[in-house]
Amino acid sequence: MSRRFHVVCHECAFEGLYEDQSVAESQRDAHAVSSGHRMSLRDISDRNVPGPTQ
Ligand SMILES: [Zn+2]
Repeated sequence: MSRRFHVVCHECAFEGLYEDQSVAESQRDAHAVSSGHRMSLRDISDRNVPGPTQ
């Protein structure tokens, strides 16, 4: 069961998709520190289901 963490910058085009939360957090923090930009980190693991499964 894989996980997905989506890192997005609100102030430039930087974004990334990571399977490891610690990597996602370090990338987010590195960009935030170097640029001063506001970042979001979302856990999108539960969106990994292809299509409705009712
Ligand atoms: Zn940025």
